[in-house]
Amino acid sequence: MITINEHYLKLQASYLFSDIAKRVAAFQQANPDKEVIKLGIGDVTRSLPKACIEAFHAAVDEMANDASFRGYGPEQGYDFLRKAIAENDFQSRGADIAADEIFVSDGAKCDTGNIQELFSQDITIAIPDPVYPVYLDTNVMAGRTDMFENGRYKGIVYLDSTKENNFVPDLPKEPVDLIYLCFPNNPTGSTITKEGLKVWVDYARENKALILFDAAYEAFIQDEELPKSIYEIEGAKEVAIEFRSFSKSAGFTGTRCAFTVVPKECVAYDRNGKSHSIHSLWNRRHCTKFNGVSYPVQRAAAAVYSEEGNAQAKELVDYYMRNAALVRKEMTALGYDIVGGVNSPYIWIDGKQDSWAFFDMLLNKAGVVCTPGAGFGSCGNGYIRISAFNSYENVEKAMKRIKEALS
Ligand code: PLP
Repeated sequence: MITINEHYLKLQASYLFSDIAKRVAAFQQANPDKEVIKLGIGDVTRSLPKACIEAFHAAVDEMANDASFRGYGPEQGYDFLRKAIAENDFQSRGADIAADEIFVSDGAKCDTGNIQELFSQDITIAIPDPVYPVYLDTNVMAGRTDMFENGRYKGIVYLDSTKENNFVPDLPKEPVDLIYLCFPNNPTGSTITKEGLKVWVDYARENKALILFDAAYEAFIQDEELPKSIYEIEGAKEVAIEFRSFSKSAGFTGTRCAFTVVPKECVAYDRNGKSHSIHSLWNRRHCTKFNGVSYPVQRAAAAVYSEEGNAQAKELVDYYMRNAALVRKEMTALGYDIVGGVNSPYIWIDGKQDSWAFFDMLLNKAGVVCTPGAGFGSCGNGYIRISAFNSYENVEKAMKRIKEALS
């Protein structure tokens, strides 16, 4: 008899986006003439940078000739891309990361979800609340939690991100082994300073813990003082893995290219306390279960590091940040407490009421769709997330409608 992995039965069905879709459909049926503006989903709306498209096309043409055709590539990614990443994203900022510490993949979602496979079943895991749900659900699937009770999985150490701690969680009170951090944060849009991040790196070093640092939104950081990479913090190479993506920085959500940085110094321990290289383990896992990102996609991603590509990707980010500034300005003027939108594309708004009630009010009175904060964890209740990924015209229209609806 074939039996299932019963840990999957503990998973809470993710009703967030299907509930949103249902409510939007009902609204549209009742108001067929009213255009709905979606500021909910974290997907980009603008096309790829021209330099990426040109490199993409040229690489497809290479595939059309026997002489330049490429079959299976290196699982870890082509050298041209790994080198460009190491030099431009890390070495140029004083972070000593080598090309062979970069693992190119088809998404930070897969990598942040898969990495937990390397660690033992009985580790204690710390996960922020609110949170990008992948970190939590993949540990539930792997059997590292008990059942879901009163809005939380037993067996997980939740790191509350609240107004009181400026949406940067405090160190856990109990010892933990694996820590997920995400800055700039999805969903709160909050950022962490170098001093704040050093506290976590020091904790990990003192406790032989490991930090999984999700920097999928680093391209949105405007403040030069903020760390873009955890490796800008001294000592982080031994205790941190970093996840990056071209999805939001260069519009690759549908094209798919990302990477994970696993420094060679980074270690985890066996039950006798002997240290082992996580780089070797991840390399083994990656080569066993992954066959590389397609050659044209890697060429398109590498074009982000050319002079034109860099300027064009920056222009994309600037475009969304102009939207974010408008949302911040208008929602603040309406009297809401907000964070985010300064170094991130997400704006986290305290609605001072139930998340779904606020969502319904914005939908029914203004025809604007946001994301209820409660969908990201219990600390998200009372908040909504507005995303800057849309056209400036739509954001302007949405803000005008919200202003009219609330005044
Ligand atoms: N990490 C965070 C925090 C995200 O919000 C997202 C996507 O929304 C991802 C990772 C996934 O990125 P990718 O498109 O590279 O899979």
